[in-house]
Amino acid sequence: MSCIFCKIANQEIPSELVYENDNIAAFKDLNPQAPVHILVVPKKHIGSINEIKEENKSIIADIFEAIPIITKQEGINDSGYRVISNCGENGCQSVEHIHFHILGGKKLSETLS
Ligand code: AMP
Ligand code: ZN
Repeated sequence: MSCIFCKIANQEIPSELVYENDNIAAFKDLNPQAPVHILVVPKKHIGSINEIKEENKSIIADIFEAIPIITKQEGINDSGYRVISNCGENGCQSVEHIHFHILGGKKLSETLS
């Protein structure tokens, strides 16, 4: 498997891991766009939001259950943050393993597009 986020999530290559459990991992983005920029990924490969289905939907729930734990840990839970998942070409997805960006630590842009 050549997927970089599979390797990071399963700790075959190093990252700045901030949280993990049996199903998911969260690590600092290599090229942060905000003072806090964390990526949350499933340990099992899912390509994008387009591949979410009955069989894997509980992993997505696990990710969203972990997000407030991670944001508390990173000190941005009260100040607020943004969660983004880019999908496909127009969404500018550059890594084809589903991931959720958590951005915070500053007032973010009001525009999304
Ligand atoms: P996206 O453009 O939504 O697919 O986001 C991919 C993100 O992965 C970008 O923000 C990259 O900076 C980040 N990224 C790529 N490789 C690594 C890596 N090895 N460790 C941490 N973040 C990475
Ligand atoms: Zn993968």
